[in-house]
Amino acid sequence: MSNSIEHTFADPVELEPGIRRLTLPLPTGPRHVHCYLLAVEDGWLLVDTGLGLMETPWAEILDRLDGPVTRIFITHMHPDHVGGAEAAAEATGAPVFQGRLDYAQCERVWGSDRWPERIAEWFLRNGVPPEVADELIASGHVFADFARFAWNPTLVDPGDSVDGWRVHATPGHADGHLVLHRGDVLIAGDTLLTPITPAVGLYPESRPDPLGDYLASLRLVSELAPRVSYGGHGAAVEDPAGRSAAIAAHHDERLDRTQAALGPKPRSGYEVSHELFGSALAPIQRRFAVAETLSHLERLVVLGRAERREDDRTVSYTGRSAGGRAPL
Ligand SMILES: [Zn+2]
Repeated sequence: MSNSIEHTFADPVELEPGIRRLTLPLPTGPRHVHCYLLAVEDGWLLVDTGLGLMETPWAEILDRLDGPVTRIFITHMHPDHVGGAEAAAEATGAPVFQGRLDYAQCERVWGSDRWPERIAEWFLRNGVPPEVADELIASGHVFADFARFAWNPTLVDPGDSVDGWRVHATPGHADGHLVLHRGDVLIAGDTLLTPITPAVGLYPESRPDPLGDYLASLRLVSELAPRVSYGGHGAAVEDPAGRSAAIAAHHDERLDRTQAALGPKPRSGYEVSHELFGSALAPIQRRFAVAETLSHLERLVVLGRAERREDDRTVSYTGRSAGGRAPL
């Protein structure tokens, strides 16, 4: 293994007194993920753990800290946040804290052999052609290999505190997503990012309206009114309320575009995803595009702007003018 990644990534950056950011590599997407080290009474609280890559140099990272990591907190069960939990727990000896709902989904998705079949069946129901579904599933396996989560963590609930940081639920990007808030600082996981916009997708067995959940989570962030929000990717958000409003506006616009793609003829989530995200997508991106399209379609159904039709084989959507009847 080359040492260059380790030397680039092993050094936590001090953002402000008592808050350090540790950036780990990702093979895809934004190419990096941020973990945070928060100074606590007896050492450091580590928030998120990167992917379960063998290369994460935990020993070297810990060597450079002036105290032990005494607890590990997971914001959500996506592989770039929870995947390194087992290795981090082993390297530090620290207990892992994870949300109750989040851990249940983590076990279901990453701890089970049945998930690939479950998600395949679900893609097919949403109009994904069989050969494309196979590709989407293969791309999902890549992530599964990196999701080495910690079994049987200490379960936490919204309203709990971990080392003086208050735990809040921010469902949307993931159903069981949790953030940490103390004073005027938010450790946001993937709830609030800049410049990228957090993905909000619908998945099998997830809550029914993830976009509705997410918009409520953005309102919560505005209410908490932190001075700064540190997220899982990209830059620190210096105006969390303003950024929340901008992301909400982005989804309003995408809801309009999604509705415009619907008419009287039933269309599947897969078909509408081509309209919204184009046709030239790699399987891994198509997977996100379909899930993201479905979260917008389901939001439109809740708002009375679209109608879902379901039989035992397929799910499809038709347009509806706001508050009006479905077009014939
Ligand atoms: Zn995520």
